[in-house]
Amino acid sequence: MIIAVASGKGGTGKTTVAVSLALTVAAERECTSAPSGPSGGNVAPTVRLIDCDVEEPNVALFLHPVIHARRSVSILVPQVDSGVCTLCGRCAEVCAYHAIVLAGKVVLVFDEMCHGCGSCCVQCPASAIREVPHVLGTVESGHAGPLLFAHGILNVGEAMGVPLIRALKQEHLAGCAGLGSDVAILDAPPGTSCPVVQTMHGADFVLLVTEPTPFGLHDLRLAVEVARGELGLPVGVVVNRDGCGDAGVDDYCASESIPILMRLPLDRAIAEAIAGGQTLVGAFPQYRPSFVALYSAILAQVAR
Ligand code: SF4
Ligand code: SF4
Repeated sequence: MIIAVASGKGGTGKTTVAVSLALTVAAERECTSAPSGPSGGNVAPTVRLIDCDVEEPNVALFLHPVIHARRSVSILVPQVDSGVCTLCGRCAEVCAYHAIVLAGKVVLVFDEMCHGCGSCCVQCPASAIREVPHVLGTVESGHAGPLLFAHGILNVGEAMGVPLIRALKQEHLAGCAGLGSDVAILDAPPGTSCPVVQTMHGADFVLLVTEPTPFGLHDLRLAVEVARGELGLPVGVVVNRDGCGDAGVDDYCASESIPILMRLPLDRAIAEAIAGGQTLVGAFPQYRPSFVALYSAILAQVAR
């Protein structure tokens, strides 16, 4: 069961919702787990929280995970042998990303813009290009209380978050897709660009967090277009800071038959707790039943 928590813009409370949903589902599963094995004891944790916002991962600020494993993630980028290169310019012609250019009598490669597609290497008539690893960032994993945790950290100056997100998902989503499986909650990057699409791809459900303002509505529309329109995924909405704006989000969701699955109020005490690094359900346990109900509603939507 893979739930992507996303929003069309930053600052909507997406991470707040993702963290508290994961903690609540994990707590519920611990309560209901039957003893297993000859020596008894609870079954292993089966809820994973994966921070896919590799440019600005901040789930760890709230959960303080213990990291058990860490590895670098690379892509292959071209390296030109100037002694063999004939300066024909074919590599620059085939690169859709302008990551390799012929500048006078030299071929320049911009590693940060390279997508590692290999086209230039294949197309070089002089076999002057070989591919070398270029490190984009790091994937770390461990646990945070009852949760399995993983996140990606894109190196400063790198622009290519997608391969890092892909590596995160490949390593940490095995056995998670579909009802009745382990649960993975993915905290997506904000916006609707390629890293968001990469995060949503393959999810069973996309939970969109928004605020009831014209700005929130504008970005919610874009996020729905990506999640439901382009990817064909079921979506639901969490309205955060309910009461601060107008009825536009409600009207839009009603007209598009998008369920509003939870509302969190505009509350200074919540804002202060989150700003202080607390989780919502940690600071305000009275919200746990709301997150239990949210998870049940998501399961019902997926089962439809
Ligand atoms: S590997 Fe692909 S993206 Fe990178 S420089 Fe070559 S053609 Fe461009
Ligand atoms: S395609 Fe090969 S030979 Fe032509 S400019 Fe590029 S590296 Fe040089």
